[in-house]
Amino acid sequence: MRDRIGRTIEYMRVSVTDRCNLRCIYCMPEGGVPRVSHSDILTFDEITRICRIGSDIGISRIKLTGGEPLVRRGLPALLRMIRDLPGIEQVTLTTNGILLKENINELVSSGLDAVNISIDTPDAGRYKEITRGGGLSRALEGMEAALSFPGLQVKINCVPMQGVPADDYICLARMSEKRNVDVRFIEMMPIGPGKRLGVVRGGQIYSMLKDVFGEASVCTGRFGNGPAVYVRFPGFQGKTGFIDAVSHQFCGTCNRIRLTSEGRLKPCLQYGDGADLRRLLRNGADDERIRDEMRRTIYGKPDCHRFADSISADAYFSRAAQQNICRTEDGHIYETKDMSQIGG
Ligand code: SAM
Ligand code: SF4
Repeated sequence: MRDRIGRTIEYMRVSVTDRCNLRCIYCMPEGGVPRVSHSDILTFDEITRICRIGSDIGISRIKLTGGEPLVRRGLPALLRMIRDLPGIEQVTLTTNGILLKENINELVSSGLDAVNISIDTPDAGRYKEITRGGGLSRALEGMEAALSFPGLQVKINCVPMQGVPADDYICLARMSEKRNVDVRFIEMMPIGPGKRLGVVRGGQIYSMLKDVFGEASVCTGRFGNGPAVYVRFPGFQGKTGFIDAVSHQFCGTCNRIRLTSEGRLKPCLQYGDGADLRRLLRNGADDERIRDEMRRTIYGKPDCHRFADSISADAYFSRAAQQNICRTEDGHIYETKDMSQIGG
């Protein structure tokens, strides 16, 4: 369906859990996020029902995310339930890759169309620092396992950080030289702990890469569900992508909504507004009522984010912000949750 300003909304990111087996410094506080009790998390049947009703109003592509989606037991079964829905054309996964190797067979046989694996550095020591204890070798094994399925589209996601040597990004980009894997650089967004860390611009990464690999050609066509711009360096098999969410605003062509693990339908990443679908589901609402609420939420999607004028990190971390009372001038509530709770 179209929203108030004519954007077609067809893609839903579904967070299946707030929990994670890593603690990336830009995404989660060191102590993790407050634990949500299992009964507050949507069940697989509830998630599938929302996806089914969403497909009635034009949602055709689903991304499973988290927290870390693979820490939720039985994820391949959920994937299969959603993939089997008429009207759902694609189900993909975003993961840190740590549990991917042991799950990949079942995921693929359940209908997984593509997987994004987050690897911010190819250096084991820095990986451990950035993820607060994670083992790079497990993530790489997960990537290799995914790449062993020729029909599965695999992308590597990296959020560049200040202070990390250029060689790390050159080495990550090189992964797509001889293999059919895309490596994407995502600008750090001022959300959660990422607010306190500076952004490394996509343009800076491109010039580091160009100095080594030469000028790249821009790839035309549609690749994936988002705003990434893809280029190909000379002789490379895979593409290099840039998601410059801070340098450029993509809101005019935004095609997505988000469902949190607790059942809040979020029309925009940066705002805390949204519909409490869990309450409706658990109070016996029929499909029509839920469909209406989804329509209303999508229709009222904010025109754009306000990363540029967003509240300062200090205000963000203050008690007031934590109590969800920081509002934009036009009355929207700023999101105070971390990316791991929103689903990236
Ligand atoms: N745990 C999974 C993973 O790491 O891929 C899925 C959830 S994670 C929240 C989804 C994506 O959001 C990851 O690629 C992560 O790097 C990215 N992310 C988290 N915080 C971010 C921030 N402040 N700015 C940009 N990307 C962020
Ligand atoms: Fe966990 Fe992914 Fe956030 Fe890292 S980016 S803490 S892996 S949810």
